[in-house]
Amino acid sequence: MQSAVYFSSVRARSFKENKTSRIRRLFDAAGMNKVIRKGDLTAIKLHFGERGNDSFVNPIFVKPIVEMISSLGAKPFLTDTNTLYGGSRANAVDHIQTATEHGFGYTVAGAPVVIADGLRSDFYREVRIDRKHFQKVKIAGEIVGADSMMVISHFKAHLPAGFGGAIKNLGMGCAPAIGKAEQHSTKPIFNAELCTGCRQCMECCPNSAITVQKKISAVNYEVCTGCGKCLRVCQTHAIDFDWFVEVPPFMERLTEYALGAIAGKKDRVGFFNFLLNITPDCDCVPWSDAPLVPDIGILASCDPVAIDQASFDLVNSQTGIENTLLKKNQKPGQDKFQGVWESTLGHIQVEYGSRIGLGNKEYKLIEI
Ligand code: SF4
Ligand code: SF4
Repeated sequence: MQSAVYFSSVRARSFKENKTSRIRRLFDAAGMNKVIRKGDLTAIKLHFGERGNDSFVNPIFVKPIVEMISSLGAKPFLTDTNTLYGGSRANAVDHIQTATEHGFGYTVAGAPVVIADGLRSDFYREVRIDRKHFQKVKIAGEIVGADSMMVISHFKAHLPAGFGGAIKNLGMGCAPAIGKAEQHSTKPIFNAELCTGCRQCMECCPNSAITVQKKISAVNYEVCTGCGKCLRVCQTHAIDFDWFVEVPPFMERLTEYALGAIAGKKDRVGFFNFLLNITPDCDCVPWSDAPLVPDIGILASCDPVAIDQASFDLVNSQTGIENTLLKKNQKPGQDKFQGVWESTLGHIQVEYGSRIGLGNKEYKLIEI
């Protein structure tokens, strides 16, 4: 049995083929009118982008989805959860300010912003899932409270998750800070012999967990959240995770949280993945590096596992772009995510997601 994933490319030679038109057709083709019901309070789960980042899903692409949901008699709101670390989205006030600066809200997207886990990320509900790592997971209160949900994801590479798409948007993105901390427990290891003492890791750490004295870096594991930012900035590879020990269980915990985010919403959640600006990093970083492959298109489905598997395959079928962070695996068919973050194991999201009933990694791609 395959799950349907609808795909529309980015090629356009007339107004009928612009992205707004394509999004509307995808909404209809994927059967989103059955997902949304009259009177629903519908959460549109987004990532508003860290200040300085510009590769998040453009709010002008969110507007047609807002309009389609409203036309069905539902009341959509734009939502995300606060970050575990500092930065421009660590509480609801800063978060709404950043979202507004990035064009999310009535003016462009046509719906209000409601931060799902409250002012200080302490508004959540425990949701029973009874899986390997968690009996219960902590999900943001307004995600649990919404009647239906539309999950809009910018598909891109990610360290340490391999890639970020629908599953990560659910798992990490619908968890309050305490739930994010439960998923992360990956801790960086420092190799003093490779450290040049440049202090970049210390300056980028959102939790001030790193101290650099002369050429030796040390991390305070009491406050480190395992976010991986220090790995990304270290030019000498002096920082690493113990990938084979730490990453598989992290990926499984994230996927179990995704299951909790849609619990109680059977057939009431739809997904859009935007395969545009496929950057090496997630939108949590305050920059946007050059895309690894050309823009591909937009996908819609009611299955988070199938849409991520289809997105993963479409990205890997591309030829990598030169002069980007992608230094190997440039050929079609080669894994672009491991090409940029060698030790990541993104496929665990879809494989474990299939095993625990989050969705189906077997899919049928239907181009419209
Ligand atoms: S970024 Fe790397 S080289 Fe620079 S201080 Fe940190 S560990 Fe050392
Ligand atoms: S993983 Fe690195 S950047 Fe992230 S909190 Fe830990 S020490 Fe800081």
